[in-house]
Amino acid sequence: MARFLHSRLSSGMYKVTWRQLLVLCVCVLTGLIYFSQGRRLSAVRLQPEEVRTTAEEEQHLFPVTTLWGAPLVWGDSEPSVWRRAEFSHHAFRVGLVVLAVGRYVHYLQGLLSSAELNFLPEVAVTYYILTDSPRQLDPPPSLGPMRKLRVIPVAEMPGLKRLALRRMDLLAKFIKEQVQWEVDYVYCMDVDQTFTGPVETEILGKLVATLHPGFYNKPRQTFPYETDKESAAFVFEGEGDYYYTSEFYGGLCKRVLALVQSCSQLILKDEERGIHARILEESYLNRYLINNRPTCVLSPEYSWWESQNSPNVPTQRILSLGRKCGPLSKLNEDTQAC
Ligand code: UDP
Ligand code: MN
Repeated sequence: MARFLHSRLSSGMYKVTWRQLLVLCVCVLTGLIYFSQGRRLSAVRLQPEEVRTTAEEEQHLFPVTTLWGAPLVWGDSEPSVWRRAEFSHHAFRVGLVVLAVGRYVHYLQGLLSSAELNFLPEVAVTYYILTDSPRQLDPPPSLGPMRKLRVIPVAEMPGLKRLALRRMDLLAKFIKEQVQWEVDYVYCMDVDQTFTGPVETEILGKLVATLHPGFYNKPRQTFPYETDKESAAFVFEGEGDYYYTSEFYGGLCKRVLALVQSCSQLILKDEERGIHARILEESYLNRYLINNRPTCVLSPEYSWWESQNSPNVPTQRILSLGRKCGPLSKLNEDTQAC
């Protein structure tokens, strides 16, 4: 220590005064306090990390992208806000195609009035209703501006099984001959549904499919993909990301036309050989969507019904009235429970 206090010595050392020593001590102390505070601050800064964990948890519950990077749509999420903003700059027309025959025609009025309230408000929408009871829509429901109704008479198709075999074929012909010339996007929808929340332009995409609520977040092995190797809807064990519902799908006319044409061909091919897939149309739809992944996937907010298997969703936007009480597989059934 004594050495410190000496001025420069002949050996090359410097003399340090008591005052300098004091300044040095103050500096060291200040440094120590600064670093300890810094640690505490960085502990405080950890908070965003905690927030991120919550966001990660939310991303796990409500993921906003699919495994292949397509949007997975929840209506109130930030990406949906961006998507709506993006589409607000474009002019386009949308068709909603619905088949209603037999006793299902009683769903028509309810579906249309709920669509007027919630389905793509402010957008040019044409409802295409294929029905064996055109009088059901006479007088027609009152529609907003930019909304049109086209009622297309079709022959009666008794029996759900027969109808399931024919619907895709009917849709393919109709989209090819009429719809694709009149609108840009087309959505196909079961009539036994109702809009219970806003369904806006966040749902638009080239090829759009909706997650089945009963299999959302469920392990792949629980999905009811077709297991009969002979069927054109057969899915190999390692295939498939999600299980989609056949109650609501759509996209650009060209893409939807390709989908319904392909599915109807597979359905008719199986029919010729006497093969019936487990979940009828839905099995073929899922087969097609494995080969042609959707560019936009709608969350179960857009296909929901009260069931112990349905997940909690932030908003129920499309409610399935029929599935709530109908069995999933109706291969041998021509009538439903409700
Ligand atoms: N459908 C119909 N009349 C029938 C049976 C079915 O118009 O007798 C149409 C209707 O659009 C219905 C769709 O085909 O929503 C599919 O039938 P369903 O809803 O019973 O099948 P699920 O949704 O249970 O698979
Ligand atoms: Mn249905």
